[in-house]
Amino acid sequence: MSTSVSSIPDSNFEFNNLKSSEESTLDPPIKKKEFRSYSDASSTVKNTYHLNHTKQTFDYVKNKKSNLVQRLSSKSGPCHSIWEVLGIMDSFVDESDPDTNQSQMVHAIQCAEAARVSGYPEWFQVSLLIHDLGKYMGIVEQLDQWSVVGDIFVVGAEPANQVVYYEFFNENPDFVSGSIYNTKLGVYEENCGFENLHLSYGHDEYLYQVLKHSDTKLPEEGLYLIRFHSFYPWHRDFAYQHFASKKDFEMREMLQNFSKCDLYSKSDDKPDFDALKTHYQELISKYFPSKLYW
Ligand code: FE
Ligand code: FE
Repeated sequence: MSTSVSSIPDSNFEFNNLKSSEESTLDPPIKKKEFRSYSDASSTVKNTYHLNHTKQTFDYVKNKKSNLVQRLSSKSGPCHSIWEVLGIMDSFVDESDPDTNQSQMVHAIQCAEAARVSGYPEWFQVSLLIHDLGKYMGIVEQLDQWSVVGDIFVVGAEPANQVVYYEFFNENPDFVSGSIYNTKLGVYEENCGFENLHLSYGHDEYLYQVLKHSDTKLPEEGLYLIRFHSFYPWHRDFAYQHFASKKDFEMREMLQNFSKCDLYSKSDDKPDFDALKTHYQELISKYFPSKLYW
């Protein structure tokens, strides 16, 4: 059953009707390569997803999220600037990504530049610059990559078959017949909104919580895009729409535009880091406090 936007209760969310000034820039005009091709991905990519789909259970996610919120509320974790974490992530390569072996620092600048040349506003550019910094959680929480990277899915309700490597869910103890976690609505209510779901624990939620617990000036839309940028089953395939709120439906196009900057900017050409450094440092100081707890 599909749900129309009008049948969903209103939220108080103010939708910023964002459009790029040169929207076509990021549609790959002549595809140099196929993006997100998982059937012929490396064994490293497959193994990361295999562990992810097997080990991310409802209890695991709830525990991790509550520990994170507790640590951030008590300000007991590491304290760094955005720029410092960008530097740290220069040595991190995402093992779930079939499209790039570049460091996360290079990926960050490539994404932000894609948004800048397409004419998106500064808050959108800076959101792209930092969107993957949550991968720093692997160091802070000493997590393997299966709990850091990759697409995210809903736990506590049956998985959508649009999730990549759906077949690996056979080994997840939550997704067995008779389990409440393996029913369409699971432990949730229809159209409850993604903010009320538990999604598999990874870098989206981590960075969202880090920012939520800081004095960031990023608009609410930026926080939303960061929190759900890996929710590909939704923004690419329109899965899980029975959980979407009016706000989620309204935000989907913006999430897709965000995703274009994230995905199609991946290339082997490294940005001119020295030429761009000052620009991005200024942008960071405009939107974020000098230090944040991680
Ligand atoms: Fe990401
Ligand atoms: Fe990314």
